[in-house]
Amino acid sequence: MKLIDGAFGEGGGQILRTSLSLSAITGQPVTIQNVRAGRAKPGLLRQHLTALQAAARVCGAEVEGDALGSTTVVFTPGAIQAGDYAFQVGSAGSAHLVLQTILPILLAADGPSEISVEGGTHNDHAPPFEFLAQAFLPLIHRMGAGVSATLVRPGFYPAGGGRVVLRVAPPGGPLGPLEVMERGPLAGQRCQALVAHLPYSVGQRELAAFSARVTWPTHGLEVVPMPASLGPGNAVVAELRFAHVTEVLTAFGSRGIRAEQVGRGLADQVRAYLSADAPVGEHLADQLLVPLAMGSGGRFRTGPLSLHARTNIAVIQQLLDVGVEVAQRDDGTVEVTVGAP
Ligand code: ATP
Repeated sequence: MKLIDGAFGEGGGQILRTSLSLSAITGQPVTIQNVRAGRAKPGLLRQHLTALQAAARVCGAEVEGDALGSTTVVFTPGAIQAGDYAFQVGSAGSAHLVLQTILPILLAADGPSEISVEGGTHNDHAPPFEFLAQAFLPLIHRMGAGVSATLVRPGFYPAGGGRVVLRVAPPGGPLGPLEVMERGPLAGQRCQALVAHLPYSVGQRELAAFSARVTWPTHGLEVVPMPASLGPGNAVVAELRFAHVTEVLTAFGSRGIRAEQVGRGLADQVRAYLSADAPVGEHLADQLLVPLAMGSGGRFRTGPLSLHARTNIAVIQQLLDVGVEVAQRDDGTVEVTVGAP
């Protein structure tokens, strides 16, 4: 039994998710103590509980501590089973963070799977659907797995009720190596203002403020009404497609924040990404670590590593015998090598 301290580093939900994924893949039982001790409301929230139950289902694990608010989880994995699965977060909690937990497990299965998760699909502080589909999954594809994502219904905080379906065709062996050292030439750019049960003009104002601050083709600006959403919601999503990587940056609208402020905030994120000249952005950096570590390793160039990513590296190294090297380069970027001797 391996003991993982959930209070370590950032002390957030990532420690739980990474521990569950790697426990299932390696067959190593884990006890995670002090779950989310670094957060204002520690312990398992609905999203984390669903991730735990989902991880247990796909590998037939025995679990202790699977209750809301629980701060200690004991997870004893069994055999990974490919198949069709459906999970409900039961709140607006992120469906994608449930998928983040079980995708690595089902990538290690010996057959294809289809997973449906209901919950939030566009949550602040979690990967929105467009990030999953356009930025993250194409890199997993490059590692030899076939994974496609379908947004069946969007879900925003607080109503939730979104649904996303992931179809997973594992590589039938370890994931292949991945290198993302350069962006390559710009191949396309798109900025969408997603508007659910809110005036169309909110999206127009966001895009106007956004495009006043960055150079952007007018045909790449689009207001997308989302009538299928159960409740109101708004996000602006900028997609920058380069030859070797796609970055997806998001700003969320919320009550009391002016549309112009949301658009300008996103423009500032785009400018920061472009001026940093690191192909892998902050969020992609922490999300690539588990796939690289469980597979054949690889290298990427990113900005300064977040506490989130550094915490994730530490958890990975407790559960896998893999080297991770983080080297500061003269150009101000950071080179991360996973699988270093
Ligand atoms: P807590 O830490 O409070 O338990 P949590 O489990 O919901 O919260 P975190 O542990 O903070 O979430 O992890 C958030 C995950 O979502 C990380 O993998 C991070 O990279 C990703 N993420 C956050 N914001 C974005 C974004 N705008 N685009 C893409 N990914 C994001």
